[in-house]
Amino acid sequence: MSRLKPLDMYNLLPKTNCKECGQDTCMAFTYLLISRDAELEQCKPLLEPKYKQNYSKLKELLTSPVRAVKFGEGKHEKTIGGEEVMRRHELTWFNPTVLAIDVHDEMDESELSKRVDLITHWSTFYIGQNLFLDAIAIRCVSGDPNKFAKAVAAVIKYTDWPIILCSLDPACLKAGIKAAPGKKPLLYAATKDNWKEVGEIARSAKLPVVIAAPGDLDLLKSLAKSMHEAGVEEIALDPGTYWGEGLLGDTLNNFTMLRRAAIEAGDKTVGWPLIGVPATIWIGKEGISEGEKLATAFQETILSALLTARYADLLIVHSTELWTFLPLVILKRNLYEDPRVHSAVDAELMAIGSPDQNSPVMVTTNFALTAYTVKSDLEQSKIDAWLLIMDTEGIGVESAAAGGQFNASKISDAMEEFKVGDKVNHRALIIPGMGSRFKGEIEDLSGWDVYVGPRDSGAIGDFLKEKYRAATGLKYVGDPGKDSPVILTSNNIKTFYEVKKPLLDAKASAWLVVVDTEGLDFGSALKEKKIDAAAVKKTMDEGGADEQISKKELIIPPALESLKGSIESATKWKVKVVAPDKLSETVK
Ligand code: SF4
Repeated sequence: MSRLKPLDMYNLLPKTNCKECGQDTCMAFTYLLISRDAELEQCKPLLEPKYKQNYSKLKELLTSPVRAVKFGEGKHEKTIGGEEVMRRHELTWFNPTVLAIDVHDEMDESELSKRVDLITHWSTFYIGQNLFLDAIAIRCVSGDPNKFAKAVAAVIKYTDWPIILCSLDPACLKAGIKAAPGKKPLLYAATKDNWKEVGEIARSAKLPVVIAAPGDLDLLKSLAKSMHEAGVEEIALDPGTYWGEGLLGDTLNNFTMLRRAAIEAGDKTVGWPLIGVPATIWIGKEGISEGEKLATAFQETILSALLTARYADLLIVHSTELWTFLPLVILKRNLYEDPRVHSAVDAELMAIGSPDQNSPVMVTTNFALTAYTVKSDLEQSKIDAWLLIMDTEGIGVESAAAGGQFNASKISDAMEEFKVGDKVNHRALIIPGMGSRFKGEIEDLSGWDVYVGPRDSGAIGDFLKEKYRAATGLKYVGDPGKDSPVILTSNNIKTFYEVKKPLLDAKASAWLVVVDTEGLDFGSALKEKKIDAAAVKKTMDEGGADEQISKKELIIPPALESLKGSIESATKWKVKVVAPDKLSETVK
């Protein structure tokens, strides 16, 4: 549960409902403050002297137990910390773990630019989003301030990504800061040996700084207290990152204890973001074999994943094996997904592949995982289709069907909104198997025929090949009588709607004899011997055509002209050949 109580906060606002903040009421503004969708300063009346105390109280209330620390500039600015709860489901975790990859000042410029290029251009697409790495940690390994400054200058020449300046030597940190004016780097690190000088550098340059006290939480806490009291405003804590028997457990325990102390015990001295440095796993491993490198990269990835799950707000990693990035960015994306908001994509009529007027139309929900799974299944099966993604408030098919966000009238409205009928020459809508119960109602509301697809979109390819067919038998359009025209067609979707669609458009009434050609058009069905006069007669007999219709004349397409005589002898009906595009004129 959030520690922020709406009523407590509301009582501290002016409560005049003046709307200056853009909200109709102070209560509405309160909820925006809690969800961090508004800044306190947007309530201008609150800034008046008479509300000074209330403003301070609200400011204090809105400060997270883990304070937010920012570094970097402009669109690449990163916020670390700012967390309210231990467990994501209690509210949400706000600021995803920042993944920083290291470079160092002993790299020559071409090596440096290559590595920066790799870090800043790597991305992977996941549930509708491109996921990226976040920052570059520049390590001073030379111990030379000039060399370090040169490396910093080179990095910022290639990218405007946020940087972390890593050195325990205050002179090197100073040189790095000077080489990156206006970049607001994060400084790493203040220790028990240099904290006064590094603290002064951070305070005077107004920069955030990491305090490192590996394995010693008491020291970490005491340094944080001293530096904050000395005027350093933004701090992050590195309790040490270790791999190995017993050490890994200690590492995780230390991160957990610090976060618990900040959030559950309200200990402000440790209420700062936590920094993990899995890159330390590479220390002393220069010159190792390729196999050992692989094992080390694997261990670093595991360590990074564990710390992502256990409260690290920023990680510095070393490996640039691309496979190491993938699980980390996906894990943090999933962990930091806001559980209060369903992951949704925009509603739209999406073209998959190169659909045309005969391509199938399918409907699904705008729950991101569903929409992208269906899209990916269609693409993998190389199916050109129109995918209607409807707004179900980001809820998947099964739950939306139960909750009322996915129902016949909403589907019908979405079809109207996105003018699906203008895109195709047919009137066939494929709905997900889990929405089968809406079939009849959608047909009534939209006038389209509904085909119930598979429950799993992975089976859509087989469904289209084997089951996407018009119903066979004696069917009708409109309200035909005994003397209405009778037209032969097949259960091939294209062939069927070449007949049905013009009749629907002309608001004509007619009988349709729909023969089972195993989904083939008439040309192919003739070749494959899937249609003959006997099949036509059988379909008519089973539908009771002789009893229901007195005008014994059957209209067939030119493709079946060769069967005209045999159909006449089998059915004893007169047969007339009419091209599909002339049907509406003929039946008028
Ligand atoms: S500006 Fe302040 S006083 Fe006015 S409605 Fe918004 S919250 Fe209330």
